[in-house]
Amino acid sequence: MKIVMLGAPGAGKGTQAKMIAAKYGIPHISTGDIFRANIKNGTELGKKAKTYMDQGALVPDELTLELIMDRFQQADCADGYVLDGFPRTIPQAEALTKALAAEGGKLDFAINVEVPDENIVSRMAGRRACLSCGGTYHIVYNPTKQEGICDACGGELVLRDDDKPETVAKRLEVYHSQTQPLIDYYAGQGILKEVDGTKEVSEVFDDIAAILA
Ligand code: ADP
Ligand code: AMP
Repeated sequence: MKIVMLGAPGAGKGTQAKMIAAKYGIPHISTGDIFRANIKNGTELGKKAKTYMDQGALVPDELTLELIMDRFQQADCADGYVLDGFPRTIPQAEALTKALAAEGGKLDFAINVEVPDENIVSRMAGRRACLSCGGTYHIVYNPTKQEGICDACGGELVLRDDDKPETVAKRLEVYHSQTQPLIDYYAGQGILKEVDGTKEVSEVFDDIAAILA
């Protein structure tokens, strides 16, 4: 099964993608997580990506596509994947459609997690991320057992630089201008499904599971 998660930054794509990955035994591929891992490891790719990410801008398509096409070659992608944060532009979506078609494949679902902008700022300000394992929590909506420590791996939790309110506003602007058009793109392919992302995490997941069943 090949799934794309759509939605504004902070809509809950990563939270749901991890649950989908666990239930269906497919990898969760987050381009944001891959960029952050590269930044942490001080790679050339990480250095390039950081300049864009810190400003709330998108990393250029060319760099992003190179990274994701390489990821698709790994053995764990053979039975599908759930993509989180990719594609984020029409050229990225077109490149994905083309790459899949070249091997006679296609996406099964594009799931749009709908959350109004008003809710996004508090979601992002309260988000805490584990830089070791990519775990995501929220200080109010999804707290860890021990404050500041990842439940999954014991790593230290941080407020991402790009989750600070001034950067969030920019990211929302970028989302509306460059990523939201993907909703129509996938509606045109007949694979768009919408879920209400303002519900509780488990309720959103029940709605997604009903779509995928
Ligand atoms: P995205 O991957 O779309 O950027 P995340 O999955 O990281 O979003 O979620 C953003 C923040 O909102 C996180 O702190 C997460 O714990 C929290 N969150 C996710 N889903 C919900 C929900 N349904 N209700 C309340 N908070 C949520
Ligand atoms: P995310 O973790 O999905 O919120 O992504 C964090 C940041 O990484 C974004 O604000 C972008 O700067 C960058 N990024 C992640 N995925 C992509 C993508 N598909 N295209 C361009 N930039 C991306």
